[in-house]
Amino acid sequence: MRVGILGGGQLGWMTILEGKKLGFEFFVLDPDPKAPASRVADRWFPPDKVEELIKVSEVITYEFEHLQEEILQKVYDLTTPSLNLLELKRSRIKEKEFYRREGYPIPEFTVAEWGDLLQRVEAFGYPCVVKAERQGYDGKGQYRVYYKEDLSKVLKNHEPGERFLLERLVDFSFEFSIVGVRDAKGNKKLYPLTVNHHEGGILLHNSTRALRIKEAEEIVLSLMERLNVVGLLAVEFFYTWQGQVLVNELAPRPHNTGHYTLEGCYTSQFENLLRAICGLPLGSTQLKTPAGMVNLIGLSLEDLDLQSLLSVEGAKLYWYGKRKKPRRKVGHINVVASTEQELEGKIEKLLNLIYSHEPS
Ligand code: AMP
Repeated sequence: MRVGILGGGQLGWMTILEGKKLGFEFFVLDPDPKAPASRVADRWFPPDKVEELIKVSEVITYEFEHLQEEILQKVYDLTTPSLNLLELKRSRIKEKEFYRREGYPIPEFTVAEWGDLLQRVEAFGYPCVVKAERQGYDGKGQYRVYYKEDLSKVLKNHEPGERFLLERLVDFSFEFSIVGVRDAKGNKKLYPLTVNHHEGGILLHNSTRALRIKEAEEIVLSLMERLNVVGLLAVEFFYTWQGQVLVNELAPRPHNTGHYTLEGCYTSQFENLLRAICGLPLGSTQLKTPAGMVNLIGLSLEDLDLQSLLSVEGAKLYWYGKRKKPRRKVGHINVVASTEQELEGKIEKLLNLIYSHEPS
């Protein structure tokens, strides 16, 4: 198969590494020829050569949610999964309104504009989370608001005319996610759930648990059907102290919380994406052994003590080859163990080795 990927980031990089094993060829569209996926693709195309990528690809997918408008228009009807899924992702407000309309459980929310933010927050009540409508990922454009004074930063960082989602600050017991995969015939499989730990809005580490939350599984299966997903759908949830399951957000692409599947499951999320979009049978999503992942954020390769990190048994490094920037995901370490307790110990050890200083 000849597969075109829109976006040259690490998600595309791992999709290509997995897909090469199936004998597939890959074409990547990205402004940067040195982006992780551009470097391992069979051919790299800059954005102004999108027509050429379309011509040589048998199937086109995406690994990046914030595609430029001109690119979107040219590939709109050509991708799997469908690009109309990204309409939801382009506006945090649209995404939450969709869940509300369709009856999925979510935190209470309302909408505000830059000009009436203070009045809206006062009426909605403190504490809340203010999320800018657009370009929101990895905690960007997101603010916890406990007092009136916290709003000055929001107003300073944004402009008149911008819209915001005001969301109830959820006092959750834990956060978790489930990645699902669906093919064009409607066959569906779910990966095991992972419990996720964020820091400053960015996923820091996660691990599988021998825990099934039926309600959440039903939500992922239902969303895949409702949105007619062909490919992957990752859904992030909150589990409240009262035992309530709330949807936080979805992503119709490989997901950071599914990276552990490379070592932990019989078929990785990346391979299953390719199987789904190329009409091949979906692979087993079964867990082989407890598995987890630690993200490498804001580091360079020289910052890592590879001797110690790789002597943690079952640890595998994925280095994306990106330049160090504050808050940037530059790699991750997958790790497996024979018990959950052993896994948690290894994750703690890795975290100590990596972030013995504050992550920048
Ligand atoms: P998001 O960008 O919406 O995925 O949010 C990133 C992270 O911020 C989440 O994984 C949570 O840790 C935290 N967060 C987002 N929304 C809320 C909320 N309403 N209540 C509490 N924490 C939140």
